[in-house]
Amino acid sequence: MSVVLSADEASELLKASIAGKLPDARGRFGPYGGRYVPETLVPAFERLEQGIADHLHTDDFQKEFRSELKNWVGRPTALTFAPRLSERWGAEVWLKREDLAHTGAHKINNAIGQALLAKRLGAKRIIAETGAGQHGVASAAACARVGLPCRVYMGAVDIERQAPNVDRMLRLGAEVFPVETGDKTLRAAIDEALREWVTDPEGTYYLIGSAVGAHPYPYLVRELQSVIGQEAREQIIAQAGGLPDAAFACVGGGSNAIGLFYPLLGDAEIELIGVEAGGTGDGLGQNAATLATGTPGVLQGSYSIILQDENGNVRETHSISAGLDYSGVGPEHALLQAIGRVTYVAAGDQAALAALEDLCETEGILTALETAHAYAAASEWAAKNPGKRILIGNSGRGDKDMPTLKQHPIRNKPNAAT
Ligand SMILES: *Cc1c(COP(=O)(O)O)cnc(C)c1O
Repeated sequence: MSVVLSADEASELLKASIAGKLPDARGRFGPYGGRYVPETLVPAFERLEQGIADHLHTDDFQKEFRSELKNWVGRPTALTFAPRLSERWGAEVWLKREDLAHTGAHKINNAIGQALLAKRLGAKRIIAETGAGQHGVASAAACARVGLPCRVYMGAVDIERQAPNVDRMLRLGAEVFPVETGDKTLRAAIDEALREWVTDPEGTYYLIGSAVGAHPYPYLVRELQSVIGQEAREQIIAQAGGLPDAAFACVGGGSNAIGLFYPLLGDAEIELIGVEAGGTGDGLGQNAATLATGTPGVLQGSYSIILQDENGNVRETHSISAGLDYSGVGPEHALLQAIGRVTYVAAGDQAALAALEDLCETEGILTALETAHAYAAASEWAAKNPGKRILIGNSGRGDKDMPTLKQHPIRNKPNAAT
């Protein structure tokens, strides 16, 4: 239910997107994006925008960023052929292994990039928000690496279901600030971090964790995460002998998905599919399938697609995975849906759990619950499109999900203690 564009508008916007011309000078991805923030926050955003223009694409910054990605994060991450999963699905399946990146997920690419930027902008401390805890861990690690103190805002609900990650953040030297307001998950944590940023926009750098929020964050995060798709594109050509027929990535705020998809947008033959959390059902409040079921609106500074009721009240979400449990989505995904370049589907809790087991059994990889949603949708697609080459963004590893997984018996061993 996105903004309706004419065929001409859609094709112009796709061309602009492939040519690297989006967002435009106003921070817009076609009808979406922009900056809807209180007056008090405008100087902080303008300062950040200027800082990005001054540093991000300089040789000096890129050299430092690439060196950290290689030597500290461990990039390039592997592209793994999945022979047994391929056989089970009747497809040719390749996995882009962000679970092998330092701290166990793609989030570190963005965290170290922004931490390096914060340093160049003269920040004295970093604040961040976190949902699943993965971004909190990545931020804590990146801050230690660049030598800046870090405070992480985290919803009380998420603190409970992601306990191992809270301990990791503390161990890495960050301070964890529990957020008891609002939905007590990611959305409330972002609000709290923004409130804190206003009080000291010069000394504090706000390190956002996904391709969401007001301009320039969706752009900045995309630029830092695009390394995923750049590597995957080269690797699959070298290892498989050509491009995939389809690529899948899970979508919470949309950072790993835009990182994988952005460098593939110009390859018209690749079908791109973003997978949101279908939760327990289609009703409002039962899922976090923002693009699949939401409507246009402003959330946290950006005009995008959001989950809201008929009065415009943002609705709480449900997903088995904390990292997908968000009522908004990055504005660039809203555009890519509107112009028909990316298709967005939902996979439910049970389908994600089953897909996670499939991957464990066939390939010996315990993937994150977020990531499992991409596998669930890919297996369905494979059943309808036999024999195709499929690329899956394996956004992170599942160790952090053990407390949740413990509540669900293993399918083929229902009596085993997990
Ligand atoms: C945080 C997280 C996600 C969701 O965030 P995006 O910004 O949509 O990528 C997906 N997978 C893992 C492993 C995560 O930690």
